[in-house]
Amino acid sequence: MKNTKSNNEDLRQRLTAEQIQVTQNKGTERAFTGRYVNHKEDGTYACVCCGAKLFSSEHKYDSGSGWPSFFLPLAGETVRTVRDTSHGMIRDEVVCNNCDAHLGHVFEDGPQPTGLRYCINSASLDFKKPD
Ligand code: FE
Repeated sequence: MKNTKSNNEDLRQRLTAEQIQVTQNKGTERAFTGRYVNHKEDGTYACVCCGAKLFSSEHKYDSGSGWPSFFLPLAGETVRTVRDTSHGMIRDEVVCNNCDAHLGHVFEDGPQPTGLRYCINSASLDFKKPD
């Protein structure tokens, strides 16, 4: 499901202004304001736009950054990275591989075993309890 016009209409009906700003316009929620920063329940974090399952609570950790942080995405081609040179920085943007929604950025200062920190906006995520 790519970002077609009808899909955009659907998102505008379903999502908050902040969720739209983050996922569609590459916005960033303010640190420590997102609903999943300190969320520790077992389950899966799906894309708020298309519902694709992206991250597991098993790989979530407290980075102290103020955003939900994961050291690994779920197996498979769930997310992909895009080089981002905006704001005078070279970063790797993380997007939903299914619908291209902006999720956050990935940095190389995460914990082992991956050494990666997927720094993800709560506004891009929809937590699902285990089935
Ligand atoms: Fe998506």
